[in-house]
Amino acid sequence: MKLICIGRNYADHIEELQNEKPIDPVVFLKPDTAILLKKQPFFIPEFSNDVHHEVEVLVKIKKVGKYINKKFAPTYYDEIGLGIDFTARDLQAKLKTKGLPWEKAKAFDGAAVIGNWLPKDEVMDINNFSFRLLKNGKIVQDGNTSFMLWKIDEIIEYVSKYFTLKIGDIIFTGTPAGVGAVNTDDKLEGYIENKQIFAIQVK
Ligand code: ZN
Repeated sequence: MKLICIGRNYADHIEELQNEKPIDPVVFLKPDTAILLKKQPFFIPEFSNDVHHEVEVLVKIKKVGKYINKKFAPTYYDEIGLGIDFTARDLQAKLKTKGLPWEKAKAFDGAAVIGNWLPKDEVMDINNFSFRLLKNGKIVQDGNTSFMLWKIDEIIEYVSKYFTLKIGDIIFTGTPAGVGAVNTDDKLEGYIENKQIFAIQVK
């Protein structure tokens, strides 16, 4: 399985990183080895001094598809989740200035947190629900899918032009504003509406 990640999908986060608003979604992949194992702490890797949390809504693909029209995209997923796209921001900045791929900064072991899954019927409106990340009990990221530049079904249409979607693939749909560094002993908790979806410890 693969993790397909969307970058720059919320206007407020584009502003905070002073990125240009893209014409097409920014897309990158993470390998399955990036998945943080359940109940394991996240260890800050030795090659970075500035690992940022990016809380993101996740979508789990349930059937194989290619060139999926957004009209039919809802038939390709039943579950919605929440996770973190951990990013070694210092390393990513270096790679970006050289025009190099981001993998070392975003696809390292443990860089993908995947929380519990909710049946999509439990989420009233896919394009209008709130989610947030708490760091040590304080809200640091507060998002709503209504602010996505590319909605979930549009993302599925777009990425399936390039990659065949397979059962179990997971899409990370981009982060809202409020990204920031994590430090040893931080506790990170993710919520969709009032439901806790994950809780992890940083080491
Ligand atoms: Zn991200």
